[in-house]
Amino acid sequence: MEKRIETKCVQGGYTPKNGEPRQIPIYQSTTFKYDTSEDMGKLFDLEASGYFYSRLQNPTCDMVAAKICQLEGGSAAMLTSSGQAANFFAVFNIANAGDHIISSSSIYGGTFNLFSVTMKKMGIDFTFISPDSTEEDIQKAFKPNTKAVFGETIANPALTVLDIEKFARVAHKNGVPLIIDNTFPTPINCRPFEFGADIVTHSTTKYMDGHGSAVGGCIVDSGNFDWMAHKEKYPGLCTPDDSYHGITYAEKFGKEGAYIYKATAQLMRDFGCTQSPQSAYLLNLGLESLHVRMKRHCENALAVAEYLASDSRIGWVNYPSLKGDKYYDRACKYLPNGSCGVVSFGVNGGKSVAEAFMKELRLIAIETHVADARSCCLHPASSTHRQLSEQELINAGVPGDLVRLSCGIENAQDLIDDIKQALDKVIG
Ligand SMILES: *Cc1c(COP(=O)(O)O)cnc(C)c1O
Repeated sequence: MEKRIETKCVQGGYTPKNGEPRQIPIYQSTTFKYDTSEDMGKLFDLEASGYFYSRLQNPTCDMVAAKICQLEGGSAAMLTSSGQAANFFAVFNIANAGDHIISSSSIYGGTFNLFSVTMKKMGIDFTFISPDSTEEDIQKAFKPNTKAVFGETIANPALTVLDIEKFARVAHKNGVPLIIDNTFPTPINCRPFEFGADIVTHSTTKYMDGHGSAVGGCIVDSGNFDWMAHKEKYPGLCTPDDSYHGITYAEKFGKEGAYIYKATAQLMRDFGCTQSPQSAYLLNLGLESLHVRMKRHCENALAVAEYLASDSRIGWVNYPSLKGDKYYDRACKYLPNGSCGVVSFGVNGGKSVAEAFMKELRLIAIETHVADARSCCLHPASSTHRQLSEQELINAGVPGDLVRLSCGIENAQDLIDDIKQALDKVIG
């Protein structure tokens, strides 16, 4: 019987046989031994599955990928060295120089730079559209060479919520897949495949690891997109690969396996953005408590958001699960059990007061990180976005007074008390 998500968090991906280790073993080995060259040759031709070199695949990493695959309800998954690598692979696996991708403009800054600067240099063109685009607006962005649509379920740091069903509908009408970065909600709070997304990516560095201990990423395929039905668009999946004795991924592995097989066989082989088995082990420890932690992150964030909304020294609050938020209705549909632990707000008095306020926080630490068990905060205008002018900050949706607060799993009242005492000191 299909197990529920909490059980998958704890026991998914690895079922030990009689006398085997209870916890997943760390296969700390770069290579694997075979009796004959013929056995190994079959692996190199993708005629048999097995391990030969940890740059491509490692058993520990695959156990953890299998768990995340179960959590998302996908058909195949792979770990990557970081969230950046996951998003790069997810797009580059189906787009070549001369191709075009449509992306929500409300995405993580690192992903925006990857798309708009680095992948542009590789000859892939991106059109950025509002996450609140109408179907007609999305349709207008399509070109004959468009290969995918990309967005984030909850955007970091803007906290916009994407209408996944709408984006999936238009993507499918045009014969391309929808790729969703599901880092902020995690599969505990939203499973994008249930709303029509085709591929999901994660920065596992965030809630999945959850303890600020290991950088990592993951790509999951739903197995629903029929590459062969759009053969002319995806030659990499639908025509023979000479570097593997002419196999055609979509024929050999079907729509359930082709995408991840190709990303592993070609992109891992050539770029080597692998996660280490040690990191995968730490990630798995985080996943074992993901369902417990997400609930607490969300309870704390909602309590903090409600308090902030009631304090007159705070100019505005963004939190999708807060009644009255611009994205509240959409959050009720896509994130009924909670959204994430991140809240953003403005402190009255602008940039300098926001900076002074943060300096007075005692429990909540200043960090370039989110989604940790320990609460942390960031003032983008004086850190990640400090090169921007006042007007550019506003255009980027990062006004000078914005504080991004990532609520951990401490006691909510202690977090509120910390914020209150800091406001008392700087505003009174
Ligand atoms: C952090 C983050 C990334 C990048 O992940 P890294 O693990 O830092 O490479 C991608 N997408 C989102 C939504 C993120 O928050």
